[in-house]
Amino acid sequence: MGSVHDKPLKVAMVSLGCPKNLVDSEKMLAALAAGGCLVAAPLDQADVIVVKTCGFLSSARDESLGVIAEALDHKRRGSARRVVVAGCLGNRDAEKLYDLSPDIDAIVGVNDRDTILSAVLGKGPVSRVRQHPPARTGGQAAKGRAPVIASDAGRFRLTPRHTAYLRIAEGCSQRCTFCTIPALRGPFRSKLPRSILAEARELLGDGARELNIIGQDITSYGRDLDGKANLSTLLGRLDTLDGARWLRLMYAYPKRFDPELIDTMAAASHVLHYVDLPLQHIANPVLRRMGRAVTRKETELLLRRLRAAMPDVTIRTTFIVGFPGEGRGEFGELLDFVRDFEFDALGVFEFSPEQGTPAASMGPAVTPRTKARRAEAIMLAQQEIAFAANRRRIGRVLEVLVDGLDSAGRCVGRHGGQAPDIDSVCYLTVPRPGGRFVRVKVIDWQDYDLIVQPLD
Ligand code: SF4
Repeated sequence: MGSVHDKPLKVAMVSLGCPKNLVDSEKMLAALAAGGCLVAAPLDQADVIVVKTCGFLSSARDESLGVIAEALDHKRRGSARRVVVAGCLGNRDAEKLYDLSPDIDAIVGVNDRDTILSAVLGKGPVSRVRQHPPARTGGQAAKGRAPVIASDAGRFRLTPRHTAYLRIAEGCSQRCTFCTIPALRGPFRSKLPRSILAEARELLGDGARELNIIGQDITSYGRDLDGKANLSTLLGRLDTLDGARWLRLMYAYPKRFDPELIDTMAAASHVLHYVDLPLQHIANPVLRRMGRAVTRKETELLLRRLRAAMPDVTIRTTFIVGFPGEGRGEFGELLDFVRDFEFDALGVFEFSPEQGTPAASMGPAVTPRTKARRAEAIMLAQQEIAFAANRRRIGRVLEVLVDGLDSAGRCVGRHGGQAPDIDSVCYLTVPRPGGRFVRVKVIDWQDYDLIVQPLD
């Protein structure tokens, strides 16, 4: 089926954006391979190039458009026959994309991953990108709830064998005024617990030891399942699975991080004391304008509870600076908060007005220069905190999961407080095989990273 002149079709996929997008890419690659295509071909040797786009922020959109242009260049030069655009940008700008690049052969939206083979082959129905119905919350959600999401089992894995992303939900029903995700990926939908457990068993059976639990807002897990499950009960079941060594929580929403969940994390055997908890800001007037539905007081109470229940907990967060109306005082409050609380890892974004979001029409705008200055001030404060923490780690013994050799030939691994792709790493002085858990001693540090010596 996936062949031309009886030769298997060679398909290259460039997967951009977040781990949720990556899981979709892995599902698509599995469907293409099952359809007889040769997947993971290099760009310059591919018959078909699939660009799995991200449309979250304007910077991500620019990156996606750049890769699409590169793919179309391969087509113009005759090395590729078809270019397929998939992912969030298709949901956001489908018509514009066709106008911009009429040579695009097909666009596959975030809801249409099952049509990828038809799109690649150029046969059969290629649906117009299906837009989502508007997000629904609370009672509305219960009454007219969106269907649960499909299983991601049977993926063609793009991550190293020992680590995998386990998506437990899709979409988001929060109301953050700056965010395009509810419009792009639809209302919040949980995956059924039995489906998640089956996927987790499959991934563990396939050699994964670390499962990174993802969604847009994992702490809302189960809210659409008639109270039959929540993140805490789900974690309790995942924690009993054979082979599960590290379970990591990513993309938590502060308002829904309840004491039950904290207790479950603290008591579990394999749930890492790690949480990725984007806070976006801390000043109440800004939090209100962002539509975050959480206050400074509630945020601080949550953070205190996390550290009280798990003194070794690693907390990663993200902030936005330069949100419309962010005054000098509000920014100062955020900077002081960063200095006082000392997060383990932190990212900062300069506000960018995204078309179609309420925040895009809010004012007064903060100038680009002020935004850049504020972002730099936050990162400099965080750098001091991170470097001091690394200094304090010298001499400590840690457990590290080895990821393998990086492009410079260095052996790289991560301790439990380091998530894949977004956090700092550990460099091993003596190489160890990828996928192995190794006891190490911290002997030095280099910027945000650690230099560690294997003890076994
Ligand atoms: S919780 Fe996250 S994904 Fe959901 S609307 Fe807010 S920022 Fe967007």
